[in-house]
Amino acid sequence: MRALQLKSFQSQPELVELPEPEPGPGQVVIKIGGAGACHSDLHVMREFAEGMAPWGPPFVLGHEAAGWVHRTGAGVRGLEHGEPVAVYGLLGCGRCKPCTAGAENLCVYGMEGPPGIGFGVDGAMAEYMLITDPRRLVPVGDLDPADVAPLTDAGLTPYRVVKRVQGKLTPGSHAVVIGAGGLGHLAIQILDALTPASVIAVDTREPALALARQVGAAATVLAGEDAAAAVIDATGGARADLVLDFVGSAPTIALGAAVAKVGMDLVVVGAAAGQFAWNFYALPYEVNLTTSFWGTLPELREVIALAAQGRIKAHVRRFPLEEAMHAYELMEQGKLSGRAVMVP
Ligand code: NAD
Ligand code: ZN
Repeated sequence: MRALQLKSFQSQPELVELPEPEPGPGQVVIKIGGAGACHSDLHVMREFAEGMAPWGPPFVLGHEAAGWVHRTGAGVRGLEHGEPVAVYGLLGCGRCKPCTAGAENLCVYGMEGPPGIGFGVDGAMAEYMLITDPRRLVPVGDLDPADVAPLTDAGLTPYRVVKRVQGKLTPGSHAVVIGAGGLGHLAIQILDALTPASVIAVDTREPALALARQVGAAATVLAGEDAAAAVIDATGGARADLVLDFVGSAPTIALGAAVAKVGMDLVVVGAAAGQFAWNFYALPYEVNLTTSFWGTLPELREVIALAAQGRIKAHVRRFPLEEAMHAYELMEQGKLSGRAVMVP
């Protein structure tokens, strides 16, 4: 089968020919219907180096996956050939307390090995993928796997953040989304679906702001020197009740801090690893500055249900697997809107 493999850090992934995976007892092989290209893949191929993580190449890229059940190993129950499924991409130990509750993103041993498919373990940018535990497959009904793939990360990750702070967003609240790309354009829809907050989107690119407005942002602000004043203005001077930072660079964390309201949440999701000098006075009183990592299996089921109800939809641009590198380059150059999805 064809697959997009990263052979070493800081190199271009290559389209290679690999043997089709065989399901062992209790395992499943799915035929990929869509594999989303995430900015995290770019961080991994460009910025990671040998020894930085307890895992590494070679592996097949791609942690956003959906497709159809292709082959099942001995003892697998309740899955039919051709059934459309989404893949829960996280790989926890499966035994610790968070894992047994479906929160493999918080696995006690999570930092000690590959966090998920497509990170040190063969992922979705291929014709077929091995699923070592059928528990990770979520039925998607009538949804198209190519539209579903981004929901498994670009949808799931912001969904988790919104669930964590949902109770604090009341009518009249303002939520600021910094970075209206793959994750950001879904975050706007999830905020609209789950909360009464009005959304202000910030991006460096006008086309990203246009997509933000199209999917429900009440106001948009071009990133830059005047962005903080413009965001505060868009809240009517009240400041933000939630900032979701999908970039995580020093300037975006600083922007979040500048628009923060006392007691609110500033959640860094983007992995640009920018610095922020924190002390007692660096933020308004009782602002929660935190990260959020991917999501839980029960949360993925809720995201799929929300999509099935037509309340969220990934804005997808499809590419053949052969053009995956081109898709990543477009993402890197800021020439993509929404999510690029490889359809092998
Ligand atoms: P993307 O490239 O699709 O979107 C990023 C957006 O941010 C783009 O629209 C870009 O124009 C915008 N942007 C860049 N610099 C900006 C700035 N200074 N101010 C405002 N906007 C700016 O990327 P994505 O796939 O949505 O991923 C976003 C980030 O989230 C990446 O760092 C990725 O690694 C990370 N991520 C984290 C998790 C997690 O679990 N925490 C999960 C998935 C992705
Ligand atoms: Zn991702």
